[in-house]
Amino acid sequence: MPAPLRHIETTETLPASADVVVIGGGIVGVFAAYYLAKRGMKVALIEKGRIGAEQSSRNWGWCRQQNRDARELPMATKSLDLWERFAADSGEDTGFRRCGLFYLSNDEAELAGWARWRDFARTVGVTTHMLDSAEASERGRATGRIWKGGVFSPTDGIADPANAAPAVARAIMALGGSMHQMCAARGIETEGGRLSAVVTEKGTIRTKLAVMAGGAWASSFCRQFGVRFPQASVRSSILSVSAGAEGLPDALHTAAVSVTRRGDGGYTLAISGRGRIDPTAQQLRFSRQFLPMFLRRWKSLSPGGLEGIRSGHESLTRWRLDEETPMERMRILDPATDASTIRLTHQRALDLFPELRKTTITAAWAGYIDSTPDGVPAIGELSEMPGLILAAGFSGHGFGIGPGAGHLIADLVTGEEPLVDPKPYHPDRLHASVWGKVANF
Ligand SMILES: Cc1cc2nc3c(=O)[nH]c(=O)nc-3n(C[C@H](O)[C@H](O)[C@H](O)COP(=O)(O)OP(=O)(O)OC[C@H]3O[C@@H](n4cnc5c(N)ncnc54)[C@H](O)[C@@H]3O)c2cc1C
Repeated sequence: MPAPLRHIETTETLPASADVVVIGGGIVGVFAAYYLAKRGMKVALIEKGRIGAEQSSRNWGWCRQQNRDARELPMATKSLDLWERFAADSGEDTGFRRCGLFYLSNDEAELAGWARWRDFARTVGVTTHMLDSAEASERGRATGRIWKGGVFSPTDGIADPANAAPAVARAIMALGGSMHQMCAARGIETEGGRLSAVVTEKGTIRTKLAVMAGGAWASSFCRQFGVRFPQASVRSSILSVSAGAEGLPDALHTAAVSVTRRGDGGYTLAISGRGRIDPTAQQLRFSRQFLPMFLRRWKSLSPGGLEGIRSGHESLTRWRLDEETPMERMRILDPATDASTIRLTHQRALDLFPELRKTTITAAWAGYIDSTPDGVPAIGELSEMPGLILAAGFSGHGFGIGPGAGHLIADLVTGEEPLVDPKPYHPDRLHASVWGKVANF
């Protein structure tokens, strides 16, 4: 079942040439195209399915600094400002608001970890408040329980996954950018070892610069021209319920279940970190590199089934540019939900918030979360393919930093002062071992 998503209309006719072609209309691709169009560049955005229809509409909507890895925190902080500025500049509504994020726990070790993060965050000017038992229980009174403690990050917020990417897409079109749905980029052409065109199912666009923001499809795309991008995906299943529950926090995390208020007044319910690994040939290929990450997270992961092979996003095949590709056979990655996770999540949410008994389930869906071996996104021009900027592997936290990632991509393309230090993101780092470098989520 697809997640709720606002649909937008785009144009059929491709331009013959563009200053930049952005491949992929998720939150990263649309923000990259937006900042490029704002700088007066002729941008074409190519999306094989619908704008926002994969991970970018299937997430919780959290835009957080809280508990971010040090390598991503500067981008997270800048992104919160950019979410606000985007609304003011474009007049479009992504549903973003700084409602603060709230975490509750009865686990001393977890609370100690949050306190350590608070101390680190202070050193870079980010404020977050540890809550003692009385404060946590008061703020979490809708649970009717006494908690050992918690944390509240007042400057963090949420945006609406059903609206965010489409809103940015509308802003791009208002700036004169061209946008094309149901149009897969099949590959690239090169001249003198540099990118010279993007080949799509509907024609070729001549360009010297392209951005590969294809989410879970990025590695199989890069493989077509011999670039090795280690990437793996995990299937996560979540659900939404209708409006009608009163007094709940806007965004609450507990180890058992997390709850986020949606733009329609309903709630998204999910279990953090829980997912299934659907084995594919690509996963086997990169398994050694993902071992450190797997050892960190294996407790919340379980084996899946044939969904990954059926979906085709981790295909090892080489395809021709003049024939249908796996991307056209799977316009929108919409894997089957894990029914037991959906049941468990709903039950835990009803236990935590009896008020949710007034609501009904409105949708349940799954999404493939694409990850790099160290859990930090890969953003940067590929050394092996000058002219092609890779921006993928957002590792389960790319929605909130979508604006910052898009801005950084535009900076790299136009050679302007980068929004944040781009070094920690460069894809070349993934040629080395990631032992000891896996991000804390
Ligand atoms: C259940 C779940 C919960 C999450 N919760 C959060 C959260 O609360 N906060 C947070 O920050 N992040 C969260 N995430 C992660 C976040 O959703 C992703 O990191 C982010 O959306 C990735 O954006 P993207 O643009 O890179 O990829 P996507 O949104 O997957 O977009 C990639 C797009 O590229 C298109 N594409 C691929 N290949 C081609 C091609 N060759 N030609 C044309 N188009 C192509 C695809 O069709 C797709 O639309 C969550 C993810 C899931 C699944």
